[in-house]
Amino acid sequence: MTRFVTPDGLPAFLAFLSQQGNRVLVPVEKPAAKRSIVFEPWREGMPFTLEKATVPAKEAVLPQSETLVRYKKSRDPENPSRISMQLDDKPEAEATVVFATRPCDARGYAILDRPYLKGPFADPYYKARREALTVISLTCNSGCNTCFCHWVGGGPTSPEGSDILMTEIEGGYVLQGITPKGEELLAASTLEDGADRFSKVEEVRKAAWASLVPAPNIKEAPEKLAAMFTDVEFWQDQTDRCLSCGACTYFCPTCYCFNITDEGEGLSEKGGRRLRSWDNCMSSLFTREASGHNPRTIKAFRMRNRVSHKYSTYPENWGSFSCSGCGRCISNCPVCLDIRAIVLAALEAKQPKAE
Ligand code: SF4
Ligand code: SF4
Repeated sequence: MTRFVTPDGLPAFLAFLSQQGNRVLVPVEKPAAKRSIVFEPWREGMPFTLEKATVPAKEAVLPQSETLVRYKKSRDPENPSRISMQLDDKPEAEATVVFATRPCDARGYAILDRPYLKGPFADPYYKARREALTVISLTCNSGCNTCFCHWVGGGPTSPEGSDILMTEIEGGYVLQGITPKGEELLAASTLEDGADRFSKVEEVRKAAWASLVPAPNIKEAPEKLAAMFTDVEFWQDQTDRCLSCGACTYFCPTCYCFNITDEGEGLSEKGGRRLRSWDNCMSSLFTREASGHNPRTIKAFRMRNRVSHKYSTYPENWGSFSCSGCGRCISNCPVCLDIRAIVLAALEAKQPKAE
């Protein structure tokens, strides 16, 4: 199923998506001191952009903070020492379309899907949101100096994680159904047929690939990083200037660490709730145990964990890197640390030293 829409026709297409009962998240430019582009719910007449967002739409499946369980306590009037508890743990999931995300961020959903859906237990909260999500990606016609999707199994036209792949050609956008959900949505729309424009799409996509600087071979990164695990000097060299601010994790479409906290009124009858909120493995508090012991005592160990998870342990478990090459951890790091340089340094390192 292939459809075509002109730039002027995009608001009507967004209105159609909205009329189908979806919250439609679109990239919106925020004129802050440092220009940012974030996803926000679309409303009639609202300006939006098709530029790559500076913040990925990860919140569509993993909100910064969400309620997992609400609880309410009540005392038995006949026997006040007896307390019963009512729990409400029903996942909340609103039908959502993420519009004009990029292929790296769509691959981010596929990377999150594996631990959240494909392990021994599916996470019901993530599952409900993921099933309610439709992803419409805009292929990239060229990369930027921090993009490296093609190093890690993706690319500027990768369909992985997308339901519909949209490509800009002269005069408008061709939308290609990738999944049955995407096909159905396009079939229900009133957009004109785009099949006769598909040869142009192929030309544009080919040019996008041709514009990329060739990727180094990082296939051996999982084994090499595992071998470098005990070389503390290597990790200290790579991490010296890190500020432990956590920007790299909060901007990442594939980071999924969280913390669980309870809010409530103790044993009173007001009840409370259990929250899941994003956490940051670059923080020294992330692994601090209740006893005060912290297995990751220095920031070099935290960086080692972050990079090794993405390029060694996740691939060992799931057969793919858990980095989509979006480059946001590079462009948002205040001290310009570059995850690519760390992976390449590990690959080039000669003899790992013992811890
Ligand atoms: S963004 Fe940079 S400085 Fe901040 S924690 Fe990540 S690597 Fe360290
Ligand atoms: S590790 Fe960096 S480049 Fe990779 S997906 Fe996360 S933010 Fe993007």
